Amino acid sequence: MNGRITRDDLAHMITGAAASIRAQHALLSQLDCAAGDGDHGATMLRVVESLEKTFGLGGPQDLQTCLRDAGWGVLGVDGGASSSLLGTFFGGMADAAGCEAPLSTNELATVFEAGLVAVRKQTKAQPGDKTMMDALVPAIETLRASADAGKSAAEALRDAADAARTGAEATRKLIAKYGRAKFLGEKTLGHEDPGATSVSLMFAGFCSGLGESKGESGNARS
Ligand code: ADP
Ligand code: MG
Repeated sequence: MNGRITRDDLAHMITGAAASIRAQHALLSQLDCAAGDGDHGATMLRVVESLEKTFGLGGPQDLQTCLRDAGWGVLGVDGGASSSLLGTFFGGMADAAGCEAPLSTNELATVFEAGLVAVRKQTKAQPGDKTMMDALVPAIETLRASADAGKSAAEALRDAADAARTGAEATRKLIAKYGRAKFLGEKTLGHEDPGATSVSLMFAGFCSGLGESKGESGNARS
């Protein structure tokens, strides 16, 4: 089987991320009650609904157009800081040179890196500041490292999801420096950052979605 990532594989990855967010949206709102205004689960439901719409039947077939539209769609949802940053992320992916399906593992990493470049233009938050960057940055750095090591897309995404989970868990011990949570200071200690949790859930969903698309036998080699 062709191990490159097709547009259809990406649609399955989005479906996987949506399932993962839907299963945990109550937790996301609960975390945001401890760190903000409690709306994060509801916002993320709108984000994944918008992504599924763009990647679903009738959406653009060309990957670059699809990612661009996905970004605009997410930017347009009724949400807060997270939807703005995630919309920028998906739209930014379309800026990657050679953003054309099917993608090799290296090209997949390049597309994700372009998303991170766009997000970094919007926020100065770094890992350690207790935001979604604590999951997003290690996930994408790990995706790149695993791609460079010659791993398959499925393996590299699994590594990225593990890194995102580790990063999100580590936010429990951090004090928020950005977003609404910064006003709560030390009260955010002991709670995982909701945005970092969402990013970790999305990467876990990308893995399961790709597994369903390619079959679980790990034949998604670049
Ligand atoms: P809002 O805070 O506007 O209600 P959400 O509750 O949907 O938005 O999302 C909150 C999450 O957004 C936080 O947990 C954090 O991960 C992320 N976030 C907020 N502000 C920033 C920022 N300036 N940089 C990076 N991430 C941020
Ligand atoms: Mg909120």
